[in-house]
This record gives sequence, C-alpha cells and structure tokens, in this order.
Amino acid sequence: MTTQRDAIVRLIPNLDAFGPGDLVVTSPIDGTELARLKPSTSEEIDAAIARSVEAFHAWRDVPAPLRGELVRRFGEVLRSHKEELAVLVTLECGKILEEGRGEVQEMIDICDFAVGLSRQLYGLTIASERPEHTMQENWLPLGPVGIISAFNFPVAVWAWNATLAWVCGNPCLWKPSEKTPLTALACQALFEKAAAGFDDAPSHLSQVILGYAEQGNQMVEDRRVPLISATGSTRMGRTVGPKVAARFGRTLLELGGNNAIIVTPSADLSIAIPSILFGSVGTAGQRCTSTRRVIVHRSLIDKVFDTLASAYGQIGSDKVGNPLDAGTLVGPLIDEAAFEGMERALERVRGVADAIVGGGRVFADRFPHAFYVHPALVRLPHQVEAIHEETFAPLTYVIPYDTLDEALAMHNEVPQGLSSAIMTTDVREAEAFKRHSDCGIANVNIGTSGAEIGGAFGGEKETGGGRESGSDSWKAYMRRQTSTTYYGRSRPALAQGIRFDL
Ligand code: NAD
Repeated sequence: MTTQRDAIVRLIPNLDAFGPGDLVVTSPIDGTELARLKPSTSEEIDAAIARSVEAFHAWRDVPAPLRGELVRRFGEVLRSHKEELAVLVTLECGKILEEGRGEVQEMIDICDFAVGLSRQLYGLTIASERPEHTMQENWLPLGPVGIISAFNFPVAVWAWNATLAWVCGNPCLWKPSEKTPLTALACQALFEKAAAGFDDAPSHLSQVILGYAEQGNQMVEDRRVPLISATGSTRMGRTVGPKVAARFGRTLLELGGNNAIIVTPSADLSIAIPSILFGSVGTAGQRCTSTRRVIVHRSLIDKVFDTLASAYGQIGSDKVGNPLDAGTLVGPLIDEAAFEGMERALERVRGVADAIVGGGRVFADRFPHAFYVHPALVRLPHQVEAIHEETFAPLTYVIPYDTLDEALAMHNEVPQGLSSAIMTTDVREAEAFKRHSDCGIANVNIGTSGAEIGGAFGGEKETGGGRESGSDSWKAYMRRQTSTTYYGRSRPALAQGIRFDL
C-alpha cells in the first residue's frame, strides 16, 4: 500500500488537495484502495468551464507552431516519466505493464504527430468564378473541448484529443472515467510541468473534472463547450449524442465495437493465430478493438479452433495473473460488473455452443476483491443474435462460413462498426474485404486491435462515427470558414452572374 501510494504521490504531489471524498479508487489487481477523491461540484465545473473560455480567448491568438512547442515540451516530460506513468496505468486499470508502457508511448507518439501538425493546419485556396476575387477556406480554433474518457485507455485517448485540440487553439476539460481518475490527475500534473515557464500558454489550458456520468453530463449540456469528444459504451453515446445535438454542439463519439477476423482458406495460420490471440485475450479483452468474433472457412475451422483451444489452455494455466509481473499476459477485469457481464454472455450461448474452452473466475480465494478470469473461446454452429452485443471481457466466438459473401454478411450483421480484419493470401479476397467491411478499420493479415496513431481512428454505426488521432482528424477540433475577398476597384460582380443594378 505504501509503495502504491508512493508511486501515486510521485506523479501527483498535490494528491491530498483532491480528497478526501466519496469517489473511492481501487486497484483491479487486488482490490486495494488507492485513494478517496472528491467529485467536482456543480459550482466547480461551472467555474472550470468559465476559466476554459478565458484561456481560449488568449490561446487562439498564439501562432499554431508556438502552440506546437508546448506540446513538444509535454512530449518530453512524458518521455522522462514514461515508466512511472505506465506503472500507474497498470495499477489503476489492470492492463499488463507492457501494455501500460505502450499506452504512454502512444501519448508520446501523438505529441510528435501534433507538433508536426502545428505547422500544417492547411486550408484551401479555391478558384473564384468572379474576376478579382480570391476564395479561401480557413480553419480556426473552435473553443473549449470537453473530453469524456473510458477506463480501458485511461491516458492515451485523452492525449489523442488534447494534443490535437491544443495545437488547433483550444483548451481542454477532461472528465476521466470514475474508475481511473488518478492517471488523469497524473497527466494533469505532467502537463502543468510542461507548461510551467512557457509564457505564451495561458493558465487552464487543461483541467480535470472528477466524478461520474453526472459530472460529465454538466459539460455535455453546457453551450460554452462546442465540442464533446466522448469515448465509452454505446449506452453512454446514446445519451450524450442527442443532448449535444439538441444544443447544436458538435460530438466526436468513440463507442463500443464488436470486431471480427475472417480467416479464409488461403490464410497463413502462422500469421492468423497470433493475431487472433492478441486481439482476443490481450488487455484481458478490454479493448474497444478486441477480437470478439472469428469467422473461419469451414475447411479450416477444426484446425483453427483446436490450435486456439490449446493456446487458451496454456494461457489459462500460467499467463493469467498480476499485470505488474513480467510473465503475465492477461491481467484482471476492471471490476465485478465486468466479470458478471462475461458470465451472463457465456450463459446466453451455452445452449447453442458446440464447445466452450476456458471461462470462469480464478484466484478468488487469494483476491476476493479482484476479478481474474480464464479467457473463454466459444465455438458456435452459426452466428446468433446473443453475440450482437459487445461483452467487454476476454470472450471470443468462433463461427464457420462457406462463401466469402456469407462471411461478409455475417461480419456486417452486428450493430457496431469499429475494427475488422481478414487473414488471406489472396489479393482478390483482401480487396473485396476492404470494400465491403462496414467498419472504420479494415486490416489485412493484421488483427483487429493495436492501431497506430498516424491513421484516423474510429468506427461506423453504433461505434459513433467519430475519427480521432491521425490523418485529418484535426478538423474536428476546428471550425471551417469560407472567405471571399474582392480586391478590385470597380463594383464587385455578384455570384451566379446575378445583376442587381440600382
Ligand atoms: P462507460 O460508457 O461506462 O463510461 C465511459 C465514460 O463516460 C466515463 O467517463 C463515464 O463516467 C462517462 N459517462 C457515462 N455515461 C455518461 C453520461 N450519460 N453523460 C456523460 N458522461 C457519461 O464505458 P467504460 O466502461 O468506461 O469503457 C468501456 C466501453 O468504452 C466499451 O464499450 C468500449 O468499447 C468503449 N471504448 C471505445 C473506444 C473507441 O475508441 N471506440 C475506446 C475505448 C473504449
């Protein structure tokens, strides 16, 4: 406990200022209490939003490359605290330390991306139909960006949003998951370290709002926050999306997935099997991009299922455990509700399944307040409606198909549309898959999980339609303005040749 507290206080020296309160933070590793924090009050949130508006008025006028310099400094601070922050990520959300490090690396990568972007917020020059006119498209800062984040990527998702928002000229308000507020306070402290002495940065470019849905909702309903970027379940998006739309605000929604890998007869199984394993059991199945369904050609299904089943046996016997230990591949579920969700999902398919491997709680005696499970693999004769829902746990279904059209139809049948993959060495199949997968991500010979920051990240349908991180996702954080200038000396012509003579 003392060691844990030391690790926390090293990153959040002013921890005591945020408590004591009734937001109890526990570690999913063993259920120990890490902190008791005070949820932000309505008055505090109101004041934070007002400060954010004030910061916006100063920050929007700072040249974008200078804004990028602040993000460069933040990236440097992250580099020098990478290990400590990775350990805190593991302590608070339970992912294995290697993945905690990967998450902090992703923050560093997006800082680099944003720094480059700060010199490339390009608009267009458009040919005008009128003589002596110029037409431009300008991208301008938007205003305070409200970020709501999920427990499973407690720091990277914020960094994807915040670094882009900052270089685009916007301050950020962050309501992290109630399950992972300490990593948020740590990031805030690291950002303040980077901003100290950077005279062009107004204060309050970054603020954390602590609490639950209620505290997030206050930001959602406030007109002073023009963009709400919300990451979490589809259930959350269903509430947040319409509320922001009702006030004509903008949303960037990154919601649940139900991701599948199609394995065709030409697949190289030495590539396919490790991808399926990482996608299914990595992060204990708690990634939005985790592999939930494996749709396998009937000619290969016995071989694929048996190979996976034997790997699951090995993982279940010695690779589940404390995520801080080097040999562990699968850490705990976030909480009891997640475990119950997995049990319910298994129960729903028990009657139809051809075979079930794994499943069930482990270490219950040693850790009565932590929820470790054997990853589960379920062989089904066909896709059933019960698996249209996302179960946020290491639970993967293996389903046979006969024709690629049938596989694609099954693939697209679920309401979510985040990540997808095909394992094939046939270029025709690969191209057909890319054209017909209805997901925001469609990989070939790469699993569904583990995206790079350079590409736009997000999905369609119930995944929410938002795009974050690379490519031109930055446009979500700016407002677009079309500007026409007349530089002649006589009366300017009207568009469409309209005459309006007095
Ligand atoms: P969750 O929906 O329970 O909570 C996410 C966040 O939303 C939390 O901060 C929570 O306090 C807040 N929230 C919930 N209801 C709200 C409301 N009505 N108003 C305002 N804020 C509200 O999700 P979770 O359990 O933390 O995370 C797991 C889910 O997130 C999974 O469905 C997963 O697929 C999804 N996820 C998606 C992505 C993506 O990029 N698409 C990334 C990570 C996680």
